[in-house]
This record gives sequence, C-alpha cells and structure tokens, in this order.
Amino acid sequence: MNQNNNLSKHELPFSAILLDMDGVLFHGMNPIEGAMEFMQSIAHIPHIFVTNNPIRLPESMADKMAEIGFERPDDKLIITSGEATAAWLAQQKPEFSFFAIGAGGLHQSLQKYGYEDKTNADFVVVGEGEGLDYAALTTGINLIVKKSAQLICTNPDTSVDAFYRGKRAILPGAGALVAPFIVATGMEPITIGKPKPLLYEIAMQELNVQASNCLMIGDRPDTDILGAQYLDIKTALVRTGRFAPGERLPEGMSPPDWDVDNLVQLKKLLGL
Ligand SMILES: [Mg+2]
Repeated sequence: MNQNNNLSKHELPFSAILLDMDGVLFHGMNPIEGAMEFMQSIAHIPHIFVTNNPIRLPESMADKMAEIGFERPDDKLIITSGEATAAWLAQQKPEFSFFAIGAGGLHQSLQKYGYEDKTNADFVVVGEGEGLDYAALTTGINLIVKKSAQLICTNPDTSVDAFYRGKRAILPGAGALVAPFIVATGMEPITIGKPKPLLYEIAMQELNVQASNCLMIGDRPDTDILGAQYLDIKTALVRTGRFAPGERLPEGMSPPDWDVDNLVQLKKLLGL
C-alpha cells in the first residue's frame, strides 16, 4: 500500500477501525490535534477502542471521552487490558481468586468475574497505577512461590506517557511493575495487552469483522502496530504519542501501512 496515494471514500481497503486511545485521541484531558474531526469523519464506519490502559473501567473511559468533548462511545466499544485480563482469567477458571496490584479500575474489572483473596489467590495480577509497595511485593511473591499462584501482567508497556498529580510525566507501565516479581520468583508472567492478540480478538468479535478488513490506528509501533501486524490487520501509526515525527521505528519492524504525523494527515490520506 502506498501512503502517498490519496484514497477516495469508496476505495477504503478496510470496513472497520480499531483505535488506541492515549496518544492517539488525547493526552490526559487534552484532545490531540485533529482527533475530534477524525472521529466525526469515521462516525459512519464501525469502530472500536482498544487500550492497554487498565487503570479505568470502560464506562469511566467513555465518560472521560465525553468530558473531553468527543461523542460518548458505548461502553461495549471500549476494550481495556483490565477487562480483557478479567475475561481471560474467567475462561481459565470461573470464579477465580486473585491478588491484584494496580489502580482501582483493575480491581473493579477483576471483581466482575472473580474475588480477592490475599491468602490463597489463583492469580497474582499486576497492572498499572499505584499499589506496588514492599508489603504487596512480599504478598505476591509468597503466593507465587508457596501457593503456586500464576503471575499475570495486564500489559507489557514498560512506561506510559500520562499525567501524574497534575503534571505530564513518564510513568512505570505494567511491564516495569511486574519486573520485581519476575526477578524474585524466577517465574514468567502471562501477559494480556497489546501486542498480544487478545484485545484485538475481543474487539473484532464485538464488531463481527475479520482481521483483513480492519485498520488499527495507534501511537506505539512496538505494541499497537506490531500486534496488529501479527494478525494481518492493516496499520496506521500516528506520531502524536511516545513516537515523534521522524523518530526511527524499532529495529527489524515492518513499516506500518500508513505512517503519519497526526490524524489530520491520516484523514486526508484516507480521503475521509
Ligand atoms: Mg497509546
């Protein structure tokens, strides 16, 4: 596919769109340039949101979008790594017990299918947000080593570009927060979020579409784009998040189908 070719509407080589959120649509509570216009221009195309962020519940993400000024999406159209983790664990063991480390939204997602049990958990689940301290680390390590709990990581991001106490900052991602558990126990976690296929698969099921008919739009080559490429989903990288315009793609990666500075450019190239 040649990104220099402008496409007219009827030529779109996909019939559904998957979108990442942070770094694509907004930074904290600030919309990214062109994001609202882009969302209006794809209102007629089936689309769904897939985010590695396990901190908020889908309903809270939808509220956040409305608060920023986007049209409020249906809760069902937001697939978070926290929700995907909870659904996957329920498939492994209905009514599972867990010990979770991370923000409130992760605990709430897990509570939909399982119950907290610090002394006898089936799973030690590490997500993002506050919660990791000496006591939590000790509890988790003992559950894994002594009670054979399985270590689970909601998403592999080592860092996230977000807001902390009112300031934009680089925060530790779940991939970093799970590291002390790996070191202390020698166990590898099962990781759920992008680039693993589960979030995309849940999203495509929800829209009832095949991978070859989808476009994934994301700001991270190593998660959003790579994961979509594994499944043969078409890809568009927007350089409004962790990757700036001109920054080189990770070594050995195939380029995305569209590589643009922002959604304004993508809208133009797609003829939307
Ligand atoms: Mg992102």
